[in-house]
Amino acid sequence: GVDPLEARLARTRSSLGSLFGLIAGASRIDEALIEEIETTLLTSDMGIGATTRIIDRLRDGIARGVVSEPAQVLPAVQAELYDLIEPAEQFLAVDPSKKPFVILTVGVNGVGKTTTIGKLARRYMDEGLSVMLAAGDTFRAAAVEQLKAWGERNGVPVVAQQSGADTAAVIYDALHSAKAREIDVLIADTAGRLHTQGHLMEELSKVRRVIKKIDPEAPHETMLVVDAGTGQNALAQARQFNEAVELTGITVTKLDGTARGGVLFAIAHELGIPIRFIGVGETAADLRPFDAGTFVHAILP
Ligand code: GDP
Repeated sequence: GVDPLEARLARTRSSLGSLFGLIAGASRIDEALIEEIETTLLTSDMGIGATTRIIDRLRDGIARGVVSEPAQVLPAVQAELYDLIEPAEQFLAVDPSKKPFVILTVGVNGVGKTTTIGKLARRYMDEGLSVMLAAGDTFRAAAVEQLKAWGERNGVPVVAQQSGADTAAVIYDALHSAKAREIDVLIADTAGRLHTQGHLMEELSKVRRVIKKIDPEAPHETMLVVDAGTGQNALAQARQFNEAVELTGITVTKLDGTARGGVLFAIAHELGIPIRFIGVGETAADLRPFDAGTFVHAILP
């Protein structure tokens, strides 16, 4: 039977699928084959750094005679892909004794941040934890309304202020309230766009400082949300946010609609930040903890 994840990742899988044909059709290992493998990895958005590492190691295996026949090439590439991305598999361990465990979410508009917050809240509620949301994307009235409506439908308290309010103030209020009510998990939204990029990054540092005034250990997780469909832009966003706010995790959404799933390797290689969840669809169950083995298996036929 087909693993449902394989079906969700079908577009990335078919983009990498040409590797299969390529290698299966090769009668010997030569420079042309290696270059075609390299091109395929780059085409699926693995990025130059990750691709170079994989190709260098493949060449090394060939030079040492470990890879000597075409049939050994695909398993070698698979093993390198797994080695590269395995360190990024670090499940987010929510510690409810923190009361609250604070998850600060950051990311540019449209990547699926608000949806991801809802899916995370659902996950923790299903584990029997109490959840509160902070509507910190005060720059966008629609984002505040979206979060409030979600909270009402799901019986989750949402702390919000009028649109245009200070994000740090909203999150500060929410953290106070969550502490008073002994909430297990507080998930805070933040703006995805301000007048300038510099302004956004400044505001996010301020949010972190304000949170630390109440709880020096918080936020316990600063999670960036990126859209896999944006490919190398997702990598650029990760780089930029990481410089501003010390990310502790990344969630990559919309992997179901794109052939650019290779970007996870670029993120793992270049930033070394844990990939916490992958989004492979619209429902709460479609936000899955990132599992390296399952992922590599799902994208390589
Ligand atoms: P925000 O601007 O970052 O808050 O983005 P939203 O949370 O409003 O999401 C934008 C759109 O992306 C919505 O239509 C979501 O349903 C959709 N979306 C989010 N995550 C996924 C995913 O993993 N797969 C798919 N197919 N759609 C997603």
